[in-house]
Amino acid sequence: MSTPLDRSTHWPYDLHGDPGRFSYQRFGSPTVAAAEAALGELDGGTALLFPSGAGATTALALSLLEPGSTIALAEGAYYGTGLTFELLSRWGLRVVEFDQTGPPPPDVDLVWLEAPSNPFLTLPDLEAAATHPARVVVDATAATPVHLRPLEHGADFVLHSATKYLAGHSDALLGVVVCRDEAAAEQLLTFRSRTGIVAAPDPAWLLLRGLQTLEVRVRRQTETAGLLAGRLRDHWSVQTVRWAGIGGLLSFDVADADAARAVETSTRVIVNATSLGGVTSSIESRSRWEGDRVPPGLLRLSVGLEDPEVLWADLEQALGGPLS
Ligand SMILES: *Cc1c(COP(=O)(O)O)cnc(C)c1O
Repeated sequence: MSTPLDRSTHWPYDLHGDPGRFSYQRFGSPTVAAAEAALGELDGGTALLFPSGAGATTALALSLLEPGSTIALAEGAYYGTGLTFELLSRWGLRVVEFDQTGPPPPDVDLVWLEAPSNPFLTLPDLEAAATHPARVVVDATAATPVHLRPLEHGADFVLHSATKYLAGHSDALLGVVVCRDEAAAEQLLTFRSRTGIVAAPDPAWLLLRGLQTLEVRVRRQTETAGLLAGRLRDHWSVQTVRWAGIGGLLSFDVADADAARAVETSTRVIVNATSLGGVTSSIESRSRWEGDRVPPGLLRLSVGLEDPEVLWADLEQALGGPLS
């Protein structure tokens, strides 16, 4: 009923002295392999698990590209992804940003999309990207395979921070890359085995536990996010509401940085914290991390599994209540 947790770092050879499927944990281990099988099924490809979403990003970029290669990165995508690539510029990696709602720029070696982007919540034009000669990565952390399977829309790789919705309980740091092509998965596996950027069994077990409820969690989070987005749009103190129509992540703007700070520190049910995708709702002003890349009054809300009316009441009191 439940996948056993095997923490072994190595396993005995068979009676002839040959390695079996598992020999040394850096090359692969049973609990991680079970999680990869489940993730591969969800996205329709071959999955490889990494110790974090950022680890998956680093491994994928380094294994596919070389000095002088250019990545076309969706503008407004996860801030940390841009920072990772900036760090890799020392090794000759170049990045150009583009509007992912249109076609990617020509003459790039890899197209990096985000569905929907965090925290701007735009959706990429997957059809336009699929006709581009470069390989296409879709970071579908916020959509999850419940709402989007990018490999079916021509993407070559799907990446998730499994820390978020997939594990889903704010207690496991993990990333995954799901490859459409078996040869690409082999190449990435070799890179992972050599560099050691590999996931450990304990978080993989927590991920397997979380995946059992992925669909019900995400469907409920999407439904609640839709309800809250609609009510926020009608609230007098909210200027812009961004929600992609799928997933439990949304963002909205209040007047300025002070107003945003007042809202995030006034919620009682919704926790004032970073990250997303857990069962407990959380809110934060993103300018604390992203500076002027985001409007000063932008608040990012990750909708959890609480009663939607309790969440709305909490937001309403934090926003200053109904206009009376
Ligand atoms: C959190 C996040 C990441 C990075 O994942 P970690 O597990 O924190 O390393 C990448 N992409 C998106 C969209 C994210 O939200």
